Amino acid sequence: MKPVPLIFEMSSPGRRAYSLPRLDVPEVKPEDVLPADAIRQREPALPEVSEIDVVRHFTSLARENHGVDVGFYPLGSCTMKYNPKVCEAVSRMVGFTSIHPLQPEETVQGALRLMYELQQYLCEIGGVSAVSLQPAAGAHGEVTGLRIIQAYHRSRGEERTKVIIPDSAHGTNPASAGMLGMKVVEVKSDSRGGVDVDELSRLVDEQTAGLMLTNPNTLGLFDENISQIAEIVHSKGGLLYYDGANANAILGIVRPGDSGFDVVHFNLHKTFGTPHGGGGPGSGPVGVVEKLVRFLPVPTVAYDGEKYYLDYDRPDSIGPVKSFYGNFLVLVKAYAYIRALGPDGLKAVSENAVLNANYVMKKLSGTYELPFQRYCKHEFVIQPLRIRKETGVRTLDIAKRLIDYGIHPPTIYFPLIVEEALMVEPTETESLETLDQFVEAMLAIAREAETDSQTVKSAPHSTPVGRLDEVAAARRPVLRYVPQSDR
Ligand SMILES: *Cc1c(COP(=O)(O)O)cnc(C)c1O
Repeated sequence: MKPVPLIFEMSSPGRRAYSLPRLDVPEVKPEDVLPADAIRQREPALPEVSEIDVVRHFTSLARENHGVDVGFYPLGSCTMKYNPKVCEAVSRMVGFTSIHPLQPEETVQGALRLMYELQQYLCEIGGVSAVSLQPAAGAHGEVTGLRIIQAYHRSRGEERTKVIIPDSAHGTNPASAGMLGMKVVEVKSDSRGGVDVDELSRLVDEQTAGLMLTNPNTLGLFDENISQIAEIVHSKGGLLYYDGANANAILGIVRPGDSGFDVVHFNLHKTFGTPHGGGGPGSGPVGVVEKLVRFLPVPTVAYDGEKYYLDYDRPDSIGPVKSFYGNFLVLVKAYAYIRALGPDGLKAVSENAVLNANYVMKKLSGTYELPFQRYCKHEFVIQPLRIRKETGVRTLDIAKRLIDYGIHPPTIYFPLIVEEALMVEPTETESLETLDQFVEAMLAIAREAETDSQTVKSAPHSTPVGRLDEVAAARRPVLRYVPQSDR
């Protein structure tokens, strides 16, 4: 498979993708309206291509992408599940797409009601008292939630800066705390993959603003000691932050608010019907327990029994964290998703997510090692330790080889505390047949490692380019085409 050529390389002088009628107004020349030093000296080196060239070029590029609409995508922690097209359809209704945030409230009562009800659904799902829909992503929700925690401590005359985060946490947790100048203290995981409660007791003190916890965590394990953990943190006046990015493990089964959490964020773009992965708009609503409601960002969407309105009259608020009320069309999708499924459907989401993950884990456990001998929740972590020892094939090689089987690799080398980790999240939307195909591919790669390890170590073989220098791609990306004449 050859790489798709750059559109510049397809250029042919004079070729055009448009035909416009002859100019019927006087032509304005740049020198008539612009100062001389603002006028370019040379024509820009733009690609000159026909319409069909443009269409083929971008269609070819799009077809090189792997997406969940193309195939299995078990990227742990990222919840790359299928998002029902009905959510897309609803979010494209002109009544939602053509309104403006500055329109008078009485003309957008439907949109406000949708947001108000979504706030209430998320309160019910999270076991919290109020929700802000403003944050635009999970990490943004974390920063918002931590600011609420800071505001709470300050309202009590305390400046607490220490945030305790488990060593299995998602990278955004310490990053968010760091961004706010808070001091991150790591707590170890115990032999069952949960928070080491003894170490936690030693770490929590009067400077502790709170604990950030993902439950189930990125190992896919539910912390069995959550009640005790909440008690330890609360006993010193700290608060509990719930990273709910992976709520597809708990919907309708456990509510973070009931297990002692004070602040919760959700990732609507993982759990509630918005496709993600391309950097598109997301949404990370934050919910809080009663004593923190007054600190939520402004505005929240309120209802006075007759009309819906934006409530700006909240003097203790941390202020807005995004313009207006967040990414509205993502909220529409979440609303459609929740309404389409209903309480029983949401519970079934989590039951299937957990069932699928345990099924695949069990099928792979004879060939790959499991760091923790427990049932998992929505995801699990495996290790190719025997394979590495006997054949030299590593996690990276297995991940790359999966691409040749038409499967997106799982998250790898994360969480950091598990050597050679492969973190698999099948999600709830996959059929038994698809899960079996994945299992077959993983077992086939294990056999290949023994019989033909070179094929695995040099994978992928089916893509235009093989192994990239990922560090260089991140640190020194080439984002601009430099024409021959400028080199
Ligand atoms: C994805 C994820 C986040 C961050 O969410 P973004 O929307 O990407 O900022 C935080 N925590 C966990 C556990 C996640 O999986």
